Amino acid sequence: MDLFEYQGKQYFARFGIAVSPGDVADTVDEAVAVAERIGYPVVVKAQVKVGGRGKAGGVKLANDIDEVRLHAGNILGLDIKGHVVHRVWIERSSDIAKEYYASFTLDRPNKTHLGMLSAQGGVEIEVVAEENPDAIAFLQIDPVRGLDVATARRWVAEAELDEAAREQTAQLLVKLYDCYTTGDCDLAEINPLILTPDGNVHALDAKVTLDENASYRHPEWDEFRATETEDPREKMAKEKGLNYIGLDGTVGIIANGAGLAMSTLDVVNQVGGTAANFLDIGGGANADVMAAALEVINADPKVKSIFVNIFGGITRVDEVAKGVLEALARVSISSPIVLRLDGTNAIEGRAILAPHLNERLITEPTMLDAARTAVNLANA
Ligand code: GDP
Ligand code: MN
Repeated sequence: MDLFEYQGKQYFARFGIAVSPGDVADTVDEAVAVAERIGYPVVVKAQVKVGGRGKAGGVKLANDIDEVRLHAGNILGLDIKGHVVHRVWIERSSDIAKEYYASFTLDRPNKTHLGMLSAQGGVEIEVVAEENPDAIAFLQIDPVRGLDVATARRWVAEAELDEAAREQTAQLLVKLYDCYTTGDCDLAEINPLILTPDGNVHALDAKVTLDENASYRHPEWDEFRATETEDPREKMAKEKGLNYIGLDGTVGIIANGAGLAMSTLDVVNQVGGTAANFLDIGGGANADVMAAALEVINADPKVKSIFVNIFGGITRVDEVAKGVLEALARVSISSPIVLRLDGTNAIEGRAILAPHLNERLITEPTMLDAARTAVNLANA
């Protein structure tokens, strides 16, 4: 789960990381009230879960009440890379002497945590990595040993942060690492981390991704979940207990097993199509599950054909075939369905479907053939 900047800062604050005082506002009047309370100058910041808000006009300095009105009015409703701004964060403006970059994330191939620190912050780290890779100091951290302040001190020296910022940054990095590990983040990033002219270091931005697998030990995450804008298709699928991820293409996909579902996406791509979703109906799919899966896919207006790819193992293909027929009797499906049925009881399954086949219910002998037919129907 990705957090909004203001939520990331609230999360940071729990771990003792310095952030600017501020509050959120959903309307211009609320924005004014917040600004009047915290004192000028303030920064008005669009709250959307996408980077590059500054460049898109979503971060503005306001020196007085009129400027807050102006900027909050412009930013609320603004579309930033497809994300519409419904909320702004107003914080006390900081004076900036230097902008740095700091983050922790997982280094999967090395089975360690990875810290990244740079004296060149404020710009996208991908750009720094591309144009000036030596400007990033990487630190691999053994998850058992963790990060101590002595190591953090060597790290800030290696990253060539300004002397005035080093000790505070080292202390802050230990707290950020604590937030990242104890706080169960997949990513904890500060860009920019700033040094102020009077020698203070604090987080001016926050990008936090929480590890959903750890949500069971974080009941407090519910408040973050409440502001999540879920894909309506994914919401419906979740309510029906399906393992569904919405995508942007036109071929709806139903497969049994996550591996087969992913392969199905690949094969659809391979023959020039695009998948509308990932949907794994799991093992032992019965008519109910099949009906639910077809219903969810049917509710997606982008879907032009449906590819049902079943390899029977524990799941028996004749059961799946019955499920499809039952589902069709219950749900009116607007797209043609192409089935590839193989594995346990495939012959019995195909026999059950045989009398019902027509131009809107088609079986194909192989996965590749079925993908081609589904893609052709989607493009027709
Ligand atoms: P992003 O563009 O989405 O990464 O949003 P940021 O929160 O990082 O803000 C973008 C830029 O706005 C920062 O890199 C700063 O240069 C600038 N900025 C943000 N807050 C302040 C502030 O309090 N004072 C000043 N002077 N600049 C700020
Ligand atoms: Mn930023």
